[in-house]
Amino acid sequence: MTAPILAYEKPIPEITDLTKPFWEAAKRNELVLQNCKTCRKYQWYPRYSCINCGSRNFEWKKVSGRGTVYSYTIIRQVVANSPAFQKDIPFVVALVDLEEGVRMYSNIVGCKPEEVHIGMSVEVAFAQVTNEVSLPKFKPTASKG
Ligand SMILES: [Zn+2]
Repeated sequence: MTAPILAYEKPIPEITDLTKPFWEAAKRNELVLQNCKTCRKYQWYPRYSCINCGSRNFEWKKVSGRGTVYSYTIIRQVVANSPAFQKDIPFVVALVDLEEGVRMYSNIVGCKPEEVHIGMSVEVAFAQVTNEVSLPKFKPTASKG
C-alpha cells in the first residue's frame, strides 16, 4: 500500500468491473475502447452490450487518440458545490469525435480556451490525478489545429 503522491480535490471516476480495462490502460497513457467482436463497431462509454447489434462479446482495443472537436463550451463560473474547479477557470469542456467513430466528453488543454474551435484537430493527453487514475483529456495536435 503506497500513499497518494498527489492531492486531488475533484471527483474521481468510480472504477467498476466494466470500466476497469479503460482506467488500467489510461494509467499507461493508452486510450482503449470497447470493440464489438460481432459487428466490429467501437462504442463509448463502456456498456455490457453493443449499442449497434446487441452482442455482449467485446474486446478492448487501443485506439489512435486522435479526433476533432464536435462542440465545446468555455466554463467561466462554477457553482457553489464544486469549488475545486474554481482555480481552473476558464476551462474548456468539449465533445470530441474520435477517428474510430465515437464521441467522447472531455476537456481541451494545452491552448487558450479562445483558441478552441469546432473541427479543431486534437489528440489525447493524459493527466495523472492520483496513483490510480489518469484522465484522458485532449490537446491540439502537434501539426496544427
Ligand atoms: Zn456489435
